[in-house]
Amino acid sequence: MGLLLTGGYLLDQRTGEKVRRDVLLEDDRIQRIAETIDPVGHECIAVNGHLIVPGFIDVHVHLRTPGFEYKETIATGTKAAARGGYSTVVCMPNTRPVLDSKEMIQFVYDSAVKEGNCRVFAYGAITKGELGEELTDMHALKEAGVVGFTDDGVGVQEAAVMRRAMEQAAELGLPIVIHAEDESLAGNGCMNEGEVSRRLGLPGIPGTAESVHVARDILLAKQTGAHLHVCHISDADAVEMVRFAKSQGIRVTAEVTPHHLLLTDEQIDGTDANWKVNPPLRTERDRIACLEALLDGTIDMIATDHAPHTKEEKAKPFQTAPFGFVGLEFAFPLLYTHLVETGKMSLAQLVEKFTTSPAKVFGLPGGTLAEGNPADITILDLSQENVIDPNTFASKGRNTPFKGMKVKGWPILTITAGTITYRA
Ligand SMILES: [Zn+2]
Repeated sequence: MGLLLTGGYLLDQRTGEKVRRDVLLEDDRIQRIAETIDPVGHECIAVNGHLIVPGFIDVHVHLRTPGFEYKETIATGTKAAARGGYSTVVCMPNTRPVLDSKEMIQFVYDSAVKEGNCRVFAYGAITKGELGEELTDMHALKEAGVVGFTDDGVGVQEAAVMRRAMEQAAELGLPIVIHAEDESLAGNGCMNEGEVSRRLGLPGIPGTAESVHVARDILLAKQTGAHLHVCHISDADAVEMVRFAKSQGIRVTAEVTPHHLLLTDEQIDGTDANWKVNPPLRTERDRIACLEALLDGTIDMIATDHAPHTKEEKAKPFQTAPFGFVGLEFAFPLLYTHLVETGKMSLAQLVEKFTTSPAKVFGLPGGTLAEGNPADITILDLSQENVIDPNTFASKGRNTPFKGMKVKGWPILTITAGTITYRA
């Protein structure tokens, strides 16, 4: 007996056409895809004309465990992921303690088996304690199953440390995933440095704090042959450098967040820390550069950088509150509404940035619907319109500038490894 999804549509990735297909899942695999499949002997789910896409993959999620369980846990973070249509998340190592040893990775993987609602992979830290000094035992971390290395939350300040990390990562065949931020330039900034920060009298973080590191690490990737992945790219010059590096055959990939695609610093009034994020919301020029780069393939994928904080933390003044937004539960409808419905991007293209592309870049399961592939599936109701309401979130975090926005195209069913993990 399998699980049969009847009466749904699949997207032809080449033509963008919707084609009517039944999908049969058995155990954790896609058993069959056909125009019609005999329902006898199977448990049936009527998909009723909705769209069946691969389960979403987010390569940049803060699950906050261990150490910050008051912000999020593996249970709540992966429940939020399932509600957002995600079958797979990759979690960041800037926890307390940092995920910088085999034991810590094992702890996360064991916890995910016990309380997780989607597949969970982890990055290992590049440096011990994310202090930027001593490299972790990257070989042991690979053995423990990490999918890459990052000190996300902070940039690796010393170029020589990054060079050695890339040499190791290249040997191990895993990517170095960078939070590009030069601390000497970022200083104590709390928003993008520019006209708006000057008007508000708030200390700014210049775009060069990001682009200087992207440039440095592209050159190091060229030198070492490592695969460099740029996290949450937000600066127009950084985007231009990734485009250049790709044209030179340097192994660089990049992700962008929904907020850097849709928001700018113009919208910040300096009173609400739910608008405070790192890298900061930048200018319209930067936003357009990110969007164009997503469309032309310079930016490979969309990642939410889901970063939950408590209400109390985000109630602090703009300068002292922590950086970060939640994003898992509404990323797809948000971008469907603002990019697909407005004609900026095709539906097939958007789905690819949530599925096929991250799977390919990071060698993760899922990402395409084909017989024999993992049964990781999301069903979307493209006509369903809801308000983004933090009170309904499964995440412990409520911190989002998109609160109250009405958006369309919500996930209504998520399946991971053949198991229903969310049903609206
Ligand atoms: Zn980061």
